[in-house]
Amino acid sequence: MRYLIISDIHSNLEALQAVLQYNHYDQVLMLGDIVGYAADPEETVKLIQQINPVASVRGNHDKVVAGLEKADSFVPRARDSARWNQRHLSAESLQYVRGLPKGPIQVEPLFSIAHGSPADEDDYLFPHASPNKAFKNLATPICFFGHTHIPTIFYRLGNATYVTQVEHPVRVTLSLESCRYLINPGSVGQPRDGDPRAAFLAFDTQTLSVEFFRVNYDIARAQQKIRAAGLPPFLAHRLARGM
Ligand code: ZN
Repeated sequence: MRYLIISDIHSNLEALQAVLQYNHYDQVLMLGDIVGYAADPEETVKLIQQINPVASVRGNHDKVVAGLEKADSFVPRARDSARWNQRHLSAESLQYVRGLPKGPIQVEPLFSIAHGSPADEDDYLFPHASPNKAFKNLATPICFFGHTHIPTIFYRLGNATYVTQVEHPVRVTLSLESCRYLINPGSVGQPRDGDPRAAFLAFDTQTLSVEFFRVNYDIARAQQKIRAAGLPPFLAHRLARGM
């Protein structure tokens, strides 16, 4: 089975469309944050429904936009865009976002998916953070996660944990006899690792390999929609910088 793994799309339709040009997969996994930040929530939710992920989890922005949580923990630009996103979703799409399950979810005995971490859906596993709590709560050999918008591989060998900075494109073969893994594909719609291209990965359960990809998309068009919507200008600016 080959999975296309996407995360943190954030209402960026142009980025999602570019990622979906890749078609060498059987099923889609979605790690949360379909909405929030950019200006195409309705079309983005519809496109996600169309590709019909075999498993999904909700993200923190999905929860706020769906009205399941207050925006108290959000900085003003995130809060403003969450409200704008909420107002620009149809009742059916809001229902879909509201129904996204809480992670972690075990998809196969081999792996699970989470938004923030297998320990807590809202934890941030930044590359410099300690992944010990996450590994302690890991119920499967591999967990794919999102939330930080930074492509990352953590692995645990014996009692030691390591982190690898992902370079694109790269294919990594997993050694499951000795290691356990926490893997972040990066963000489709708002990358924050200095590379503005949309990020995603493909996971092949036969060869036990993960392939990290980046694709160009029409950033100018996504920015123009953000500005036309009257959303905070920084949300447009950051897309070109990958920050
Ligand atoms: Zn996000």
